[in-house]
Amino acid sequence: MSLQLPVTVIKGVGEHSRELLSSLHIHTVNDLLEYYPFRHEDYAVRPLSEVQHEERITVRGQVQSEPAVRFYGKKKSRLTVRILVDGQLVQAIFFNQHYLKSRFVIGNEVVVTGKWDQGRASLSPAVMTTKKQSNEEGLEPVYSLKGDLKMATLRKFIHEAMGSYGDLIEETLPRQLVSAYRLMDRKEAIFHLHFPKSQDDLKQAKRRMIYEELLLFQLKMQTYRKQEREQQKGDKKHMPTESVEQFVQKLPFPLTGAQNRVKNEILRDLTSPYRMNRLLQGDVGSGKTVIAAIALYAVVKSGYQGALMVPTEILAEQHLESLTGLLEPEGISVKLLSGSAKAKERREVLASLKSGELDVLVGTHALIQEGVDFENLGLVITDEQHRFGVNQRKVLRKKGLHPDVLFMTATPIPRTLAISAFGDMDVSVIDEMPKGRKPIETYWAKPSMFDRVLHFMEKEITNGRQAYVICPLIEESEKLDVQNAIDVHAMLTQGLSDWKIGLMHGRLHQEEKEAAMDAFSENQTQVLVSTTVVEVGVNVPNATVMVIYDAERFGLSQLHQLRGRVGRGSEQSYCILLADPKSDNGKERMQIMTETNDGFELSERDLELRGPGDFFGAKQSGLPEFKVADLVHDYRVLEIARQDAAKLVGSEAFWQSKDYMKLRKWLEDEGVLTLNHLD
Ligand code: ADP
Ligand code: MG
Repeated sequence: MSLQLPVTVIKGVGEHSRELLSSLHIHTVNDLLEYYPFRHEDYAVRPLSEVQHEERITVRGQVQSEPAVRFYGKKKSRLTVRILVDGQLVQAIFFNQHYLKSRFVIGNEVVVTGKWDQGRASLSPAVMTTKKQSNEEGLEPVYSLKGDLKMATLRKFIHEAMGSYGDLIEETLPRQLVSAYRLMDRKEAIFHLHFPKSQDDLKQAKRRMIYEELLLFQLKMQTYRKQEREQQKGDKKHMPTESVEQFVQKLPFPLTGAQNRVKNEILRDLTSPYRMNRLLQGDVGSGKTVIAAIALYAVVKSGYQGALMVPTEILAEQHLESLTGLLEPEGISVKLLSGSAKAKERREVLASLKSGELDVLVGTHALIQEGVDFENLGLVITDEQHRFGVNQRKVLRKKGLHPDVLFMTATPIPRTLAISAFGDMDVSVIDEMPKGRKPIETYWAKPSMFDRVLHFMEKEITNGRQAYVICPLIEESEKLDVQNAIDVHAMLTQGLSDWKIGLMHGRLHQEEKEAAMDAFSENQTQVLVSTTVVEVGVNVPNATVMVIYDAERFGLSQLHQLRGRVGRGSEQSYCILLADPKSDNGKERMQIMTETNDGFELSERDLELRGPGDFFGAKQSGLPEFKVADLVHDYRVLEIARQDAAKLVGSEAFWQSKDYMKLRKWLEDEGVLTLNHLD
């Protein structure tokens, strides 16, 4: 007997059922047992006084009236009957179940389940509750189904499987943890996840499985991290610390306290024998670029090369400029590997990189592709890139490179997500803005008020400032977005005829984009009309107005990114959201934007409103999927699991003792551990 046997060993599961189950990815007995319901139907009879409006409830009462049936259309009917429940007259409404008529005899007792309408004192739609359902007092599991598989059939299979094979379910968690947290044991928890007797059973079963899922996940991440670290032992950089401090002293401004702390964390990593794998979070405008410059300086002065990877060519261009300004006077060479560069230029850059003549390379993800060879790469920094993960590291490793990695992001990733999606990273946070910044004022205006907005822009421009205008967004159609940008550009050229209006969108050639960006940053154009290509990183401190069309179409984090393009200098800046949201969610987002400038708060709210799947955009998320746990609601458990996992992985006992054999085995099955860790 084994849980790995095919489902056909379960009584009642024949060839046909096997096929139906396999479309749900259920192949073994274990798969069946771990196919959890997504909710439970509660048929326990409850008093009306406890029920909320629109809640689903089961009541017991006496039939008070003849049922009335009305037919409409061929198959449609509506049956209404009055029932006395707890001294209150309740109307139960059944759709397309006229055959129930004979079941309602005045004076008889019935049990009915339905959605409670407080105002009408009715249950609608209602269903008759079977004797079995109301007597069992348990909760009925509801599974997601496909094809011809019936709910009752699947319930029966799982019940059978639990009865015949349930005893084989073994405890995976260490005993100490089970007793410390008073967790249900695994077998009991799985049983109650399917067939709980009460809401409390269900809650306890979930609590146990959520913890298990999150602990195992954290164990996996942290074991992985430990291994990466151990493999990297001995790669310690000999850094001229004094020279680094002198460089910091020479910067045009003193570092903020937070920048200083983060700088130290990074320098410590660079000189430690372990490979750095650090996430640096800092809200837009908090000054991450200079931290990148310091890290690059330190690495180059230690005898290595550095690379800075960014998502767009515009941003690469901009970073090239700021890094050149800071590093070239120190004798450090910085070059751009651009997708649009001439072949000869590209060859030269690549040759100087390979020979070690070039110190720092800036570019898009092309940086780590085929044909780009470093002489001695010591540090990779990624800016605003969500996607630099395990895969890219593999690419580097294949080239025999084991650089330190610093991952910078202005998308303030809620702590929950940071420790789950990036659980194998250390996290640094710049939580302080440079002095003298004025908080951006944000206003929400109806599109019909555009004339006033125009007026306001004109006033700011007359005072010497500049403005961005982000164009209406049409999902999935770059072509229409571009057309919108062109239209808005034409309109503003007319509306602000004394001033020059620039235009930027994704269909422009690279040189045209750069020209548009340069013209704006030199104040040759006072307004830049753009699609969302200016979203990340761009830095023009003289710009004080950000106007965003169709703001309701953006998520909070993206709006915050866009807003972060202004407020980068000492002048008061403004963000104007042009939006007419129809949904409550949309209205709430606009409201939140006007209430807070705090990127972390926004991202937490965004996560609540959108859920983690949407957070980075479905494809990029790379977030783990859980069967029972939910990152938004269970973040406290995640934090506890993270600490517990760290303790385990760091202890001798975990690697040696028999008590942890199952967990080690599990890690091996997951491909995290190699056998030599299991000896
Ligand atoms: P982000 O974190 O969004 O990448 P940047 O690195 O572009 O921010 O910095 C935003 C602006 O703040 C830049 O103009 C930069 O020169 C300036 N800055 C950075 N650090 C400081 C500081 N400690 N004091 C004053 N200005 C600073
Ligand atoms: Mg930046």
